[in-house]
Amino acid sequence: MPKTFLPSFVDKAQMERRQLEGLKWTVQHAYRGCEHYRNAMDRACVEPMDIQSLDDIQKLPFTTSDDLRAGYPFPLLSVPFSDVVRIHASSGTTGKRKILAYTQKDVDDWGHFFARCYEMAGLTPEDRVQIAVGYGVWTAGVGFQLGCERFGAMAVPAGPGNIDMQCDFLVDLQSTVMCCTASMGLLMAEEIHRRGLQDKIALRKMIFGSERSSDAMRQRIKDLLGLEEMFDIVGMTELYGPGTGQDCTRHEGIHYWADYYLLEIVDPDTLQPVAPGELGEMVVTTLQKEATPLIRYRTRDLSRLITRPCSCGSILPMHDRILGRSDDMIIFRAVNIYPGQVDSALSQIEEVSSEYQIVLERRDDGKDYMTLRVESRDGTDRSHYPEIERKVASAVKKAVLVSCDVEVNDYGALPRSERKSKRVFDHRSF
Ligand code: ZN
Repeated sequence: MPKTFLPSFVDKAQMERRQLEGLKWTVQHAYRGCEHYRNAMDRACVEPMDIQSLDDIQKLPFTTSDDLRAGYPFPLLSVPFSDVVRIHASSGTTGKRKILAYTQKDVDDWGHFFARCYEMAGLTPEDRVQIAVGYGVWTAGVGFQLGCERFGAMAVPAGPGNIDMQCDFLVDLQSTVMCCTASMGLLMAEEIHRRGLQDKIALRKMIFGSERSSDAMRQRIKDLLGLEEMFDIVGMTELYGPGTGQDCTRHEGIHYWADYYLLEIVDPDTLQPVAPGELGEMVVTTLQKEATPLIRYRTRDLSRLITRPCSCGSILPMHDRILGRSDDMIIFRAVNIYPGQVDSALSQIEEVSSEYQIVLERRDDGKDYMTLRVESRDGTDRSHYPEIERKVASAVKKAVLVSCDVEVNDYGALPRSERKSKRVFDHRSF
């Protein structure tokens, strides 16, 4: 019997019993160990004893990234310092970086469920895993490495960049799996192709983290390298790091580790749960984390639960890919719209580039209007523009359920930015 990292529970009832135990433990532990949580629960007039069912989670107050920053450098710490064996930090792209602490059990748990990611991707101890993500104070490299060693495959801790060295390792060490961002994957695929190394390497799978990738980009990587499969791994520093979920070989959604955390999807405006399968903000509550437990932590990431079970038969529930950030939400004609929805609708249309702008205005009739500016592909004849407009308008209407005017521009007409491009221009006055 090969070693497995999958949960031992066999049905939903067993899973929920385990979750309730974890929830009760977490609330008790945080209330006792952390002043912030104790104060927040006191203010919300809820005590650990009030948590008697999974639904009772809704009685608990939310935790936000501001709470993490306010407690800098050791926010939400719920154990004595003598129990802390490690810290990691987030990259801090928005404001001060966040520092999270780990006990030995937290590190062990992380390694265990990260090994599950490799298991779900169908790896065996024979695999050689080239880890081309950042090492250091970030959770990325360290996490991929921890899981790989725990799983029992061979880790090649290459780190990011350094294409020459990556190519050497792929040829000399015959790595079978590469972990990187999708952009790095594309860069590698093109470079391997350019150097004519396809027949000299043994790469079969790629695992992509921390970045959204379009289907077109993935298909190009797969074709150039002749890969068997590609996987999306998810995670964030606040919640251990990468490895808190991944798609299985059926690729029907991202299985998440319901034995380690609870996932709620809420409307970012009202903070009420959305209907199952609807898009909303992901809110996580840890079930076993000791040093820095999270209680209803608002991740700002948008996704939806996938309500049908996976054909692989796993009991582990699934969510969709991350479809954007709730901070980017637009309210238009009483409908919540996320630029990510427009983004993903456009990525299905071959005739347009990935650039776009959303312009909102209030016209003389007092109504709000949305115009979507898109770009044609290089070399498209302008006589096709009306047809492209109709196609885009219908795809966007299907995605966001409201109509918009579409304006097709020549390729290259919309501004590019090396940093995040501004995509939403809201000219409405409130
Ligand atoms: Zn599955």
